[in-house]
Amino acid sequence: MKILVCNDDGILAPGLAALRSCVADVGDVTVVAPDTPQSAAGHAITLTHPLTAQHVKVGEGAWGFGGISVDGRPADCVRLAVRNLMETPPDLVLSGINAGANVGVNVFYSGTVAAAVEAVMCGIPAVAFSAKMTGGTADFARCSRLCRWVLDRLLAGPMSRDVVINVNIPLLKEGWPIGVRVCVQSTAGLDDRYELDVNIPGRAYRLSDTYGFFPTEHETDVTALDEGFITITPLHVDLTSRTNMAKLEEIPWGAPPA
Ligand code: MN
Repeated sequence: MKILVCNDDGILAPGLAALRSCVADVGDVTVVAPDTPQSAAGHAITLTHPLTAQHVKVGEGAWGFGGISVDGRPADCVRLAVRNLMETPPDLVLSGINAGANVGVNVFYSGTVAAAVEAVMCGIPAVAFSAKMTGGTADFARCSRLCRWVLDRLLAGPMSRDVVINVNIPLLKEGWPIGVRVCVQSTAGLDDRYELDVNIPGRAYRLSDTYGFFPTEHETDVTALDEGFITITPLHVDLTSRTNMAKLEEIPWGAPPA
């Protein structure tokens, strides 16, 4: 099996090395990742400059690897890898392990999820892995074992080509993760603020590091992750709201003006 590993935290991120190492014996692994951190790049692609791809050696020991760094966005990396860099397209694309959760509406901002979505848009099954963190650190060694454990279970059956499997690891407190929850994506809004940065002349607004989600009544990826479960959410590329099709079709559209 040919596996492409990508991320949005950049080629030097420990989460990328952790993900690569945990699947090193699963197949033939190629790493293509952005040369700089690209968190919150969403599904952006680069049109302003030609993409440069460079072979690089990262780290050493069991987590060391040779990969390709690209001066673009996460989605660029998957597009370029699938179309140009790999001799034949991969059978599976893995993205992560992101330093920070990607649940709820944050999947729209996430470059980690976007890389996996890009793979599915190419017809390749994909899994996005993210780990909730506090204080800027995560136990990536343990996260990597958990990601492999999840992946083994996903790969035991046929992988769908039309969905991204979005996997989030909770905080690794004692006794956590409690288990696995397959759950829906929360659509609750983000409760965050822009703060005036007084160190910058003029009115400079910086998004604060801390944020929350507005509460929801039912269980979602946001609530299950907070409760200590590994969350698994299938995401699809089709954003069409089927329930709103009929309502819009009922509008007497008539003929467009000349
Ligand atoms: Mn990130």
